[in-house]
Amino acid sequence: MYPHIHLYVLASGSKGNAAVVEGPKGSLLVDCGISRKMLHARADEIGCDLGRVRAILLTHEHGDHTTGLPVLRRHFDGPVYTTAGTASGRRSLSDIRFTLIDHDATLELCGMRVTAFPTSHDVNDPMCFRFEVRDQGEDGQDEVLDALGWVTDTGYLTDEALDALYGCRVLGIESNHDPRMLASGPYPYYLKRRVAGDSGHLSNDQAAAALPHLVTRDTETVVALHLSEQNNRPSLAVRALAQAVGAEKANDTYTEARTADGLLSICASSQHKPLAVW
Ligand SMILES: [Zn+2]
Ligand SMILES: [Zn+2]
Repeated sequence: MYPHIHLYVLASGSKGNAAVVEGPKGSLLVDCGISRKMLHARADEIGCDLGRVRAILLTHEHGDHTTGLPVLRRHFDGPVYTTAGTASGRRSLSDIRFTLIDHDATLELCGMRVTAFPTSHDVNDPMCFRFEVRDQGEDGQDEVLDALGWVTDTGYLTDEALDALYGCRVLGIESNHDPRMLASGPYPYYLKRRVAGDSGHLSNDQAAAALPHLVTRDTETVVALHLSEQNNRPSLAVRALAQAVGAEKANDTYTEARTADGLLSICASSQHKPLAVW
């Protein structure tokens, strides 16, 4: 695959999430859990042009994915896509004009095919997405030129998620917690159960277990998403994902890993520093 899609993770974690998926004909903002001001500051930091954003996609209603939306909405005319469950799931969203879609919808946006799939989270009707740039070959067959998968805030990967995330060039996958750190960490019991449960968050081990089924020869970059600051370390997430696909550490701190042939690299997103993946 050739990079037709670029990813800018502006913030990722329980204090706020926002990412820009840049396609051939514009960009999509996925979630808006940081302020408009921070959105612009983070985008500027890594050369991401927010002026290209044509639509917003909302995965679910939790505050760390929606806090910035009410203010941003006043400055943004384009469609905001989400499910009816998400749109009605939070009082702060009640005045926002949404374009409602199903959690298995297919949209054509910004020169990309966007395929939604359901996730498993303690909210009304959450979803995540696969983004593809396609072309019709000379034989009339539809050909995938580039693909990016995005999954976060899910207790496990649904069958639809596993299908949708297969063989992407860039894969953003939740790697929320180290199960041992969570078990021995400061969270109260009910919260530990929630995070580790089927409607909570994907652990390093769960993401690692899925990788061999999702990564193909087309996969160039795996980005660990939504890392817990209490119950995880970037090095633990990257190490777990790296070991699952036979990658070795690429720096001393183990915050980057790479396969011996150099074709696949693994890194971690951050709450505090934006990340660009080309
Ligand atoms: Zn979240
Ligand atoms: Zn959530």
